[in-house]
Amino acid sequence: MQMRFDPVRKRWIVFASERSNRTDYFMINKEQHDDPKDCPFCPGNEIYTGGSLYEDVSIIDGKKGWNLRVIPNKYPILRVEEKGILRQYGPYAYMDRLGAHEVIIETREHILRMSDYDNDKFNRLINAITHRIDDLSKDTRLKYITYIKNSSKLAGATMTHPHSQIVAFPFLPNDERHIFNNMFEHYKNNNRCLLCDIIDFEIREGKRIIFKNDAFVAFSPYASKHSFEITVSPINHRSEFNKMTNYEKNSLIEVLKNIFFKLDFALDKPAFNINLVTSPYNLNHPDTDHFRFKDSFIHWYVEILPRVNRIGGIEKGTGVYVNPFLPEKCTEIFNNV
Ligand SMILES: [Zn+2]
Ligand SMILES: [Zn+2]
Repeated sequence: MQMRFDPVRKRWIVFASERSNRTDYFMINKEQHDDPKDCPFCPGNEIYTGGSLYEDVSIIDGKKGWNLRVIPNKYPILRVEEKGILRQYGPYAYMDRLGAHEVIIETREHILRMSDYDNDKFNRLINAITHRIDDLSKDTRLKYITYIKNSSKLAGATMTHPHSQIVAFPFLPNDERHIFNNMFEHYKNNNRCLLCDIIDFEIREGKRIIFKNDAFVAFSPYASKHSFEITVSPINHRSEFNKMTNYEKNSLIEVLKNIFFKLDFALDKPAFNINLVTSPYNLNHPDTDHFRFKDSFIHWYVEILPRVNRIGGIEKGTGVYVNPFLPEKCTEIFNNV
């Protein structure tokens, strides 16, 4: 076995396959569903969530109704009403909680896995994400806006009803700052995009490709931090999720339908997180001057992170992840579905 270096996050991952035989190493997702009667996200219970920031509406059973809604988070971690004034306190700094935290209610159905979403559902979801990122990016105080999903309680969801989040930060989060700086360094040294180089190599090698069409590819990253992790990315160089053409959007939907089906079939409906890594906005600090070239060096992608591994003290204490499954093995398991 070996350690592998991830050039996007610049970190080592330890692969230890002997652990894949330990039955207590894998977490099984034993989902307990909330009662739809008490669910504020179910149709008919809108009174509990208040007005929408965005709605996808059509005629349902003869009358106008929503298919998807975006609402303010009832317990927001960040709020647009704040001022974002930075203050100093001795060696520390602090500010109010400027930002945005919204909830996307993805379906009318109370219980639905992403593997059961049809083209329309994925289309509505992508449109909602694009709309909210577009809208929030006009606020020049917000620098990084992303889509996050916790699917199942084991992955951090508090409710059963299919939902996800749009989060807008007044700063570039540390992980993304590292990723973008690493992408910039590669671009500066090679005059090429790091992700374009990775994707070209992965397509040529073929060992870790889970699904591919003309515009998108899904693969198991060479130095995956989690077992069965999947990266989905446009094959051609694209820096912003929001600038997808209709053709690209349909290609992405084809890839997503394929991989969520494989994920649920291979791992028996695991809990998972989704994280979108896309270009930041409104950066005007001297430290971020190189972001003038962001369209050239940032290449957007989506990470799908199944929550099957137990995270222990090594991961928490040192940030070094131990993964019992090589991505080639994960790809093989996915592709046998
Ligand atoms: Zn519900
Ligand atoms: Zn690229």
